[in-house]
Amino acid sequence: DVAALNLCAIEVVAGPDARILPFTPGLPDHLFAHDGQITKQAVRALTLSALGPRHRELLWDVGAGSGSIAIEWMLADPSLRAVAIEADAVRAERIGENARAFGVPGLQIVPGTAPEALGGLARPDAIFIGGGGSVAGVMPAVLDALRPGGRLVANAVTLEMERVLLDHHARLGGALTRIALASAAPVGGMTGWRPAMPITQWVWTK
Ligand code: SAH
Repeated sequence: DVAALNLCAIEVVAGPDARILPFTPGLPDHLFAHDGQITKQAVRALTLSALGPRHRELLWDVGAGSGSIAIEWMLADPSLRAVAIEADAVRAERIGENARAFGVPGLQIVPGTAPEALGGLARPDAIFIGGGGSVAGVMPAVLDALRPGGRLVANAVTLEMERVLLDHHARLGGALTRIALASAAPVGGMTGWRPAMPITQWVWTK
């Protein structure tokens, strides 16, 4: 028996304002509304790779800023869920705007300060620490909340946060990576390498 065969042709026409996005993480910074506090494109790509989303997993993006990490996590697959925790009220509002513009309105936004704001949230499969990691109580809270087998990725720009990550690496293992990028920029009439601030990244599986 041959079941009924349904043929369906769909033509998708992009309007003049449509944003046609590539499907690999590490989207250009300018696609996100932000105030300068954003994990830059190349570092974001490395961070999403380290977070390694699997179907149906839940991410906590702690110190979410513009929400770029949580948004790219959700863009990777429709089954993925994310919570963006952000202490700054203006940025928390902006995360919602970005989530709607990128077509991931299901991103849960928690305006508030970690670790207090983390109480009561569903246990995550992956955690990204983009800010607040050197605040007392944040690292113990996230290490405890992470599901066994889950991944924690933390990026440090400041020496204070780097010290926290070096201590955790010494105690718990995992991988430390230093990301030091430079971009060509004008120097007088010539061109030179302008270094970005180096980032220390700690990746740990519970
Ligand atoms: N990954 C983000 C950038 C993060 S910047 C992006 O790509 O847009 C760090 C953010 O952490 C800032 O917005 C700051 O307000 C927030 N932050 C710092 N301490 C925090 C805390 N204890 N709880 C929640 N957010 C915090």
